[in-house]
Amino acid sequence: VNAARLMQERGVRAGGLSIDWPELMRFKRSFTEPVSASRREQLAGAGIETFDGVARFTGRAQVHVGDAVLDATRAIVIATGARPASLHVEGAGHVLTSDRFLELPALPASVIFVGGGYISFEFAHVAARAGARVTIVHRGQRPLEHFDPDLVERLVARMRPLGIDVRLGAEVRAIERVEAVNAPAYQVVCLESGRRSSVPADLVVHGAGRVPDLDELDLRAGGIESSRAGVLVDSHLRSVSNPMVWAAGDCAAGGAPPLTPVAGYEGRVVAANLLGGGSTVADYGAVPSVVFTLPPLARVGLSEAAAREKGLDVTIKHQDMAGWFASRRLGETASAFKTLVENGTGRILGAHLLGPGADETINLFALAMRCGMTADAFKQMLWAYPTQASDTAYMV
Ligand SMILES: Cc1cc2nc3c(=O)[nH]c(=O)nc-3n(C[C@H](O)[C@H](O)[C@H](O)COP(=O)(O)OP(=O)(O)OC[C@H]3O[C@@H](n4cnc5c(N)ncnc54)[C@H](O)[C@@H]3O)c2cc1C
Repeated sequence: VNAARLMQERGVRAGGLSIDWPELMRFKRSFTEPVSASRREQLAGAGIETFDGVARFTGRAQVHVGDAVLDATRAIVIATGARPASLHVEGAGHVLTSDRFLELPALPASVIFVGGGYISFEFAHVAARAGARVTIVHRGQRPLEHFDPDLVERLVARMRPLGIDVRLGAEVRAIERVEAVNAPAYQVVCLESGRRSSVPADLVVHGAGRVPDLDELDLRAGGIESSRAGVLVDSHLRSVSNPMVWAAGDCAAGGAPPLTPVAGYEGRVVAANLLGGGSTVADYGAVPSVVFTLPPLARVGLSEAAAREKGLDVTIKHQDMAGWFASRRLGETASAFKTLVENGTGRILGAHLLGPGADETINLFALAMRCGMTADAFKQMLWAYPTQASDTAYMV
C-alpha cells in the first residue's frame, strides 16, 4: 500500500488499495502461532522437559514452578525477557500493552502511543497506513534517542503528512475514560511546556519502554543481584553473586541492546560456557538495530555524540539521499545517511541510515565493521547495480 501510494503520479495508479485489519492480523498469526508448538516439539525431541507456569527462586539452587520443585545440580539459566515498564500515571490501567496491540480485532479510528521509542514509531506507521489518526506523546525533546538525531528529525517530518502527530516535551499526567456517546473513549491529559493539554483517542497504547521481567522471580531468595538493567552478570554472562546462575537476553545486564539476535547470541554464549570450560566471553562487536518504520531507520556502531565524547578523530559524512536514484525511483522523500570513519586507520566506526532498504543495507556496514574492513576496502566492493548496496560506496 505504501509503495503504491508513493508512486502515485509517478506512473502508478493506486486505485482503491486499503488495509483490511482483521485479514492482516490473521496473516500475522500465521507467523506467530506455529512458533510455540514447533519449539515444544523441538525441545521434546531433544529430551528437554518443560514446565508451564511462573518460575520463582526458593533457594540458591532451587526454583518452584507452580507445584513443581526443581533442584539444580549444575546451573540455572534465567531468560525471562522484558515487560512494559509500569506507567505511574492516573488511569494507567486504561493503557493497552504493545503485545495486545497486534491482537486487536479491529483498528480504532484514533490511537495515542505513550512514549517515543521504536515500538510506538513502528506501530504508529502501521496504524496510520491502515487509516487511523495517530498521536505519539513523548516526554523528552528527542524521540528514538538511541538513533541519530538528524535522521530522526527527518523521519518525524516525514510522519506528519501521514497523519501522525508527534508531540514532544509532552508528559502524560492522566488517562481519563470519556463516557460521552459518539466521542473518543479516552483522553490523555498531558503537561506540554508547563501547560495542560488533552488529546482524545479511542485507544491508548503503551510504548514507554520495557524493563527486565524479574519481579516474579524472587531473585533475593536465589541470592541473585540485579539492577534496573537486569541480572548482574560478568562477561561470561554468569551471575556476579550466585555462580550457579546464568542469564541471557533482555533480562540480563549484559551490556548490549535488548534485541532478538542479542538474546539468541547470549543464549549460545551461556550454552558454550555450560558445555565447555566456562571461558566463552560475550563479544557483541557491531550490533545493528532498526526501527521498522516506512522508510526504516537503522544504526550500527558509534553515534556522532559518542564519538565526540570519546574524543575520537573521525570524519563524519552526512548527506540527504532523497535525490539518489535508489530513493527517487520509489518516490521516497525521507532518505539520508551519516557515517563515521576514523582518521588514520580508516576504520568504519558507525553508520546511520534512513530510507528504503536501510533495514538490509545496515547489515553490510555491520559485516564490514565486524570484520574490521577499512572504508577504502569497503568502497572497492563490487555490488550489484542498481541496488541500495551500491550506494554505500558513496557513504564512506
Ligand atoms: C513490540 C516489540 C517489537 C520488537 N521488535 C523487535 C525487532 O524488530 N527486532 C529485534 O531484534 N527485537 C525486537 N523486540 C525485542 C525482542 O522481542 C526481545 O529482545 C527478545 O524477545 C528477547 O528475547 P528473550 O528470550 O530475552 O525474552 P522473551 O522473548 O521476552 O522471552 C521471555 C519469556 O519468559 C517468560 N517469563 C517471564 N518471567 C517468567 C517467570 N517468572 N517464569 C516463567 N516464565 C517467565 C515470558 O513470559 C516470555 O515468554 C521487540 C519487542 C517488542 C515488545
